[in-house]
Order: sequence, then structure tokens, then C-alpha cells
Amino acid sequence: MLQLLDIAKDYENRPLLRGISFTVAANETVCLLGASGSGKSTLLRIIAGLETCEQGTVAWQGQDLSSAPAHLRNFGLVFQDYALFPHLSVFKNVAFGLQMQNLSRPEIERRTREAMTQVNLSGFEQRHVTELSGGEQQRVALARALAPRPRLLMFDEPLGALDRALRDRLLDELRGILHATRVPAIYVTHDQEEAFAIADRVLLLHEGKIVRDGSPAEVWNEPGSAWAARFLGLGNIVEGVVRLKVETLKVETRAGGFVLRCGHAHQTGEKVNLLLRPSGVRLAADGNLRGVVTDVVFQQARFKVTLENGLYFYLPEAPKIGEAIAISIPPSEVHCLA
Ligand code: ADP
Ligand code: MG
Repeated sequence: MLQLLDIAKDYENRPLLRGISFTVAANETVCLLGASGSGKSTLLRIIAGLETCEQGTVAWQGQDLSSAPAHLRNFGLVFQDYALFPHLSVFKNVAFGLQMQNLSRPEIERRTREAMTQVNLSGFEQRHVTELSGGEQQRVALARALAPRPRLLMFDEPLGALDRALRDRLLDELRGILHATRVPAIYVTHDQEEAFAIADRVLLLHEGKIVRDGSPAEVWNEPGSAWAARFLGLGNIVEGVVRLKVETLKVETRAGGFVLRCGHAHQTGEKVNLLLRPSGVRLAADGNLRGVVTDVVFQQARFKVTLENGLYFYLPEAPKIGEAIAISIPPSEVHCLA
């Protein structure tokens, strides 16, 4: 198990990481999700031992790694551009890390073939990496990382440059390989779809801190803050004022009044942020939200309808642009963001 305790890192006297703590358990794929420049790559380099930090501990099974150099940590890294050697065959690319380890020739051969089997690359041994497709190159990079039998794998935006269809296919493949090999992994990305597709657990990195840590479903249901709901693209965020708090909360917003259930303690007159999820709504004459349609886009068997107040919803049928509509949003789709 990898343990991070209170990691802090400054760049040019500005704090980048401000006390990061989390663990990665056996067999677990943890996805670190944050905007570009939030410090994700820096954190991976600290874990790998390629960068120092001002404060905090990186430990494995309780043992502090601060005196362990990168090559003795036995962590594998896969980068966005794969960093393959174009002049070497697939076999030599995969064997590369093993050759640095003073292993016998038969052992290198055995482990290289084992890693190539794990990623379904058997038969590709003598091919040149420049002849391979993007997906195959990705598998070579993964095999090269797996060959030394790492106790942890780290991926730094490995699918960043690929188109969507290929990316989705590789994500499925990668998830399958990670589950089959049972190597714990940290997967870094700025793309929430990618994160939710691959992760057993999602960590949201924002302003140097982990602001949310949970399963994809938990983070989706309870983003925990307006920033997280916006970053994850969960829906409309509107500010409102609490008008009444009895069993349910009544909140007045620029988009209309909403009644919702909320576990937090609120007071009358308090300002809160509401998340209005765009799905699960319908057109209804007595709907709780009214507006004039400014845009309609067909998206995957439904219509994304934007109103003049900037809010958007998914509807099964398309209203006309300029039409005044009323939408009924059930309480289950209205969520109070702390
Ligand atoms: P991410 O991977 O989330 O995009 P990085 O960890 O690459 O973020 O970088 C976060 C910020 O840290 C960058 O915006 C940059 O300003 C700063 N940074 C990263 N590496 C260095 C460095 N070697 N020297 C100075 N600043 C750096
Ligand atoms: Mg990065």
C-alpha cells in the first residue's frame, strides 16, 4: 500500500501542493483529477522519487521512502507520449528496463514475454514501434512498465493526445489489464470522463489540496462544492437564498424557487449554491423553472436546450428557439452544494 502524508511543494515561493494525504490500496486504481497546472505531474514525480518536496512523507507499507532513489522504488511510469525508442524493436523496448537490473538473459527473456502476453502483444516481438498504431504503442509502453513487475504503476495523462473513439477503446483495454494484473495504479488526467471510466476511486486536486475523495458514484452524487460540480460538468450552478427551513429547504434563485431535501444545517437568509442537474427534467406548463430558448442541439438521442438565463437541460423533444417554456425539475435533480 502506498501512503502519502501531508505532502507540500512550492514553486518560486508559491505553494503548489498544500498538504496532500491519501493512500492507494492493493489492486486499487486511483485517479487523480485536476485542471492543467494544478500540480498532478509534480505529485507523480514526488512519488516516483524524481522530485523533492518541502514537507511530507511518501511511504510503502509504512516504510518511509525519502532515502530510496527512484530506481529502487520499483514504481512504473507511463507518460503521454509513451517515450518509446523508435530505433528498437518492440521486444527491445519492453526489455529495456530489465536490462538495467543485472538479470540473466533467460530471466529478461521470460519477463519480457510475460509482460507482452499481459497486454496481448505476443507475436509483435520483432516489429518496429514506428510501424505500430497509437493503441499498440500504448500497449508497448504499458508492457515496458509492467516487465520489471512494479509494485505500483503511475500514468501521466497517457491518452492525452488521442481522439475520442480510440481513447474510449484504450481505456477499456487498460482497465481490463489493470484488473487482470492487479497492480495498484495512480492514473492522472484533467479529463473527468476518462477519470470516471478508469477509477475505483477519484481524487479531485484543486488549489493544492485533495478536495474530494470517493468512488466515481459518490463523487458524482455528492461533488461537495460548487467548484467540483462545475469542474465535473454536472449541471447548472445557481446561487440562491434560503427562505424556509423546516423538513425541506426552500431556496429562491434567479431561475425560480426550489424545494429540496438537504442534510446540512442552514439558516433562513443564508446564501447557498444549488446544482440543477440537467437530466430527468420534463416540459410542464406548471414547471418550477421558466425561460426563453436560445439554443437547441441534438446530442445522443436527446436535445440539449439552453435558456436565455444560461441554464441548460436535456429534453426528449426539441422546443423552438425563441419559445418560452416551463420545465419541471424533480427534487431529486436539485442538490445543495454544502
Ligand atoms: P499538471 O500536471 O497538473 O498540469 P504540473 O505539476 O506540471 O501540473 O505543474 C504545476 C505548476 O507547477 C505549473 O503551472 C508550473 O508553474 C509549476 N512548475 C512545474 N514544474 C516546475 C519547475 N520545474 N520549475 C518551476 N515551476 C514548475
Ligand atoms: Mg501534467
